[in-house]
Amino acid sequence: MRINIFTKLLITYLLIILLTLFVVGIFLTQLLQNYFYHLRQRELMVKGQEIADILSAQLLGLQDPRVTNDLLAILDQFLDARIQAVDKTVLVLATVPGFEEMSLPFSAEELEQLLLGEAVAKRNYHAQTGEQLVSVAVPIVLPHEVAGAVFLNAPLRGIAQTLSQVQRLIIYAAMLASALAMLAGLYLSKTISLPLQQMNLAALEVAKGNYRQQVKVTSRDEVGQLAQTFNHMALKLRQTIEALSQEKAKLENIMLCMHEGVIAIDKKGRILLANAQAQKLLHLQKKELTGEKLTNLPVDKEIENLFLAVIGQGKALTEEFATTGDRILSVQVSPLRRRRQIWGAVGILQDVTELHQMEQMRRDFVANVSHELRTPMTSIQGFVEAILDGVVTDEKSRNRYLQIILAETVRLNRLVNDLLDLSYLETGKLTWQLEPIKLPPLLTQVADKLQPQLQQQSLVLQMQVPDNLPLVLGNYDRIEQVLVNLLSNAIAFTPSGGQITLSAKDIGKQVCISVTDTGPGIPEAEQHLVWQRFHKVDKARTRNLGGTGLGLPIVKQIVEAHGGTVGLKSVLGQGSTFYFTLQKVKAKTERC
Ligand code: ADP
Repeated sequence: MRINIFTKLLITYLLIILLTLFVVGIFLTQLLQNYFYHLRQRELMVKGQEIADILSAQLLGLQDPRVTNDLLAILDQFLDARIQAVDKTVLVLATVPGFEEMSLPFSAEELEQLLLGEAVAKRNYHAQTGEQLVSVAVPIVLPHEVAGAVFLNAPLRGIAQTLSQVQRLIIYAAMLASALAMLAGLYLSKTISLPLQQMNLAALEVAKGNYRQQVKVTSRDEVGQLAQTFNHMALKLRQTIEALSQEKAKLENIMLCMHEGVIAIDKKGRILLANAQAQKLLHLQKKELTGEKLTNLPVDKEIENLFLAVIGQGKALTEEFATTGDRILSVQVSPLRRRRQIWGAVGILQDVTELHQMEQMRRDFVANVSHELRTPMTSIQGFVEAILDGVVTDEKSRNRYLQIILAETVRLNRLVNDLLDLSYLETGKLTWQLEPIKLPPLLTQVADKLQPQLQQQSLVLQMQVPDNLPLVLGNYDRIEQVLVNLLSNAIAFTPSGGQITLSAKDIGKQVCISVTDTGPGIPEAEQHLVWQRFHKVDKARTRNLGGTGLGLPIVKQIVEAHGGTVGLKSVLGQGSTFYFTLQKVKAKTERC
């Protein structure tokens, strides 16, 4: 059972009051009894002395015995005590009616004291009634001896009544004090218990996370100070929690926005922190990872081992892992230290697939460029050496050799120009003047330009270009370059007698221009690769045709720089269609 402060205070008060009154009662009773006893004793002593004087006067013959008897009778009446006179030889000198059977209530020593002339007094109890008695003995002193003694025995009457009155008074005082104690308890409960209860409720609310709790300060005493301190504490707690929440939110935001995955574990391998990116990179479906053991999650065993190795060795380690979907994950793990003790590890996870691809592309590019340059240069070197060495003697052969050298030089030149173009296009260094272009004349012009090659290959070029084609926005020379590239490819790859179709059509916001041929077509698996640098579908054949593998990447770059897209549809053995789109010029609203 829980006893509240009010009950405790009340019980304590009542106990103190009742105990005090009880002790006071006992002392008071004792005090009163002693007081009454001494009063009666003194009175009896005086009276005893008077009687002793009367008796000694009679013994000396100075007084008539009848007078003595009368005096004794009167004294007996007023004294309310039993009087007994005893002579020295322990014989009764005078017998007062009613005192015959009374024995002497003093001890031998006290009687001896009496015989020496000293009065003695004693407190006695009645054998039957238990009533308190005061016994006094006064010696009857003659000039040279003690002739006897006068004994006075009196009950302490009236004391019981006084004592019961005092006790009643004490009971009334106890009742009044109890009532006052209850009132005081109520007051204290109001001033102490109630504010404490309120503080208790407020503290419980704070524990639940409601930090805006404040209690009323109703006094300036300790309880009031406690209330003030509580309010201050709640305020500080709120400020601290808010600051911590803000810091946490900031950290979470940073973690969330980070491109890298972050995962921290403690010494036992339990996850302390894992951002969304880490979850994504590790392909973990579970939403909340905090508290989970890394070993219980479907994480690559090698990644787990890396974390454990860092905790074990106490030094940072970095490794790369191949994960699902041909992705490469770089994991850098560092130990977490507190007072030189390692208590966990934090890992930064990075998807470095693109980086690796870029690196690979760079290596491929260097290899491709070297390869593309080496072939014509070796060829030129060989033929020049042959001429210089005098291996070629006749004019016809020398001319043929020089022709080859020229062709290779042209090829080299084209290759370098293409590379430069591509480099400029890729870095965005080229800025063009965009202008409205009428496509039909441009397409006709390109077709005319390539007429000699078409004839040489016995190819038919069909034009499907409507005259009312809307204007497109572009750079005239660059669009021409795109068309020449695509048509040149079509001419180069289409066997004699084949057909090439150059068409253009309005497709809403854009115009689509396509070059279709009846060439060998491109396998489906390679269709997306033809837009990459140096990619050649049939390497031997392309080489014979003098291709560099840079034409289509240049086309793609130019078209995309114009805000358009490129595409390819091809069926192996039937032919290919390369197409690209260009933005139409937005029609201006004419005003009168
Ligand atoms: P190249 O200078 O070698 O033609 P491109 O980038 O223009 O370089 O073309 C890349 C490769 O795409 C070519 O080597 C060729 O294998 C293939 N290709 C391009 N156009 C056609 C086409 N019309 N028909 C078949 N294959 C083609």
